[in-house]
Amino acid sequence: MAQPFAGETIAAIATAPGPAAVGVIRVSGPRSRELALSLFHSSRPDFSGLKPHRLHHGRLVDAAGRVLDEALVVLMPGPGSFTGEDCVEFQCHGGPAILRAVLDELLARGARLARRGEFSLRAFRNGRIDLAQAEAVAEAIAAPTRAAAQLAQMKLAGALSRRITAVRERLADLSAKVCLAVDFPDEEVECLPPNELRAEALAAVGALEELLAGAERARAWRDGLSVVLAGRVNAGKSSLLNALVGRARAIVSAAPGTTRDYLEEPLNLSGLLVRLIDTAGLRAAGGLDEAEAAGQNAGRELLARADAALYVLDAALPVTEEDRATLDGLDPARMLVVLNKRDLPGAARSLGQMAGAEGMAARFTSARVSAATGEGLENLCAELRTLLLRDVGEPDPDAAAPNTRQAADITRARDELTALAEETTLGLPYDILAQRLDAARRELAGITGEIAPEDVLERIFSKFCIGK
Ligand code: GDP
Repeated sequence: MAQPFAGETIAAIATAPGPAAVGVIRVSGPRSRELALSLFHSSRPDFSGLKPHRLHHGRLVDAAGRVLDEALVVLMPGPGSFTGEDCVEFQCHGGPAILRAVLDELLARGARLARRGEFSLRAFRNGRIDLAQAEAVAEAIAAPTRAAAQLAQMKLAGALSRRITAVRERLADLSAKVCLAVDFPDEEVECLPPNELRAEALAAVGALEELLAGAERARAWRDGLSVVLAGRVNAGKSSLLNALVGRARAIVSAAPGTTRDYLEEPLNLSGLLVRLIDTAGLRAAGGLDEAEAAGQNAGRELLARADAALYVLDAALPVTEEDRATLDGLDPARMLVVLNKRDLPGAARSLGQMAGAEGMAARFTSARVSAATGEGLENLCAELRTLLLRDVGEPDPDAAAPNTRQAADITRARDELTALAEETTLGLPYDILAQRLDAARRELAGITGEIAPEDVLERIFSKFCIGK
């Protein structure tokens, strides 16, 4: 593979901006060792150079002799390092000014500031990890919950790459047989009968479909699911959002119509990330000002796109026509009715008891809570988690968890193979069928990066953070 980095040594701050106990600066490239030694003054009088994988304690000193920081330095020589090149990491005190000063000193001595994801790109180019694993590094860092992090770790360990490679190998064997049939057409039937080609193609389609089902499950665990809070004004949606996420962000007011725009807050439901969305109250359009009307349209749209809804009722008030109209438009399998304000003396004890709720108890699952006192919230969270996981299931320990890009490649490969299977029944010549096979193999090769055009790499790695 071409070596586009020849000679360049890159450096970047690898830890998040802002004060912290420790901050890490990463260096990779042929001059890493030399650059490190040029500013590192060991605290040991018998220091005789950086030993691989050993932490060395000392001071980092600039060209004018000023001490920039007291630090630990570690050398990880190539080709066994993360990037496959000589790497050095400085563990400094995590002050932004300190880290910037050390980085500037490295840049002044000839290192180049690393681009986003450039360390991972080098690891990929140098064959240390494949493309799916490089993406898994970014997914692990961005993981919002432990379950999402676990999925990323499995991909990093090669769970997806192994399954893609297995399908690719199968298709490569098939390609070889098809080529033989093209080269020796008279023996076609003996070489590879169309029904066998069809069966092989369909088997690969099956394997790819399994991966796509995993992608859908993984999406829920990786990106979270959206839950909209709906209900009439003053039912207590904002209060419920605050009570669930434990922060006073949504504006709570006794005057109807205060929650005009929508608010989104993350909620961790035992490892399942939920994006809780508070919309403007869904009221009938008459008598609203423009902002409220716009907010409500946006609310309806959010409701239609959400994974689930919590319809909040004030348990001390009758269910109205408006409530019924909205509830009629919602899928009972994707929603819970929340009877809020259970602390009030007149609050109904169940949906069936509420005036105007005739016939509803049989259709909707409901939960009684008080956003004010916190009563019933734990149960509501458990009910919501069960509802959301009905289709998704718990994370699969063998999950290969393709991301959106990978799922798109898998889908295209599957479609090629499905078409191929159909075309075997039409008596098309094998060289035409071979093109389908090649196209499917190319799509799959793009997932692990055996085929990776520059623009695709650019798109993937530019989403990484600097220093990764
Ligand atoms: P929203 O319009 O649906 O977002 O309703 P808010 O959250 O703004 O609440 C409307 C009013 O109901 C406010 O005065 C809240 O303090 C009150 N409220 C909300 N939840 C409860 C509850 O569980 N118990 C009681 N007693 N009052 C509540």
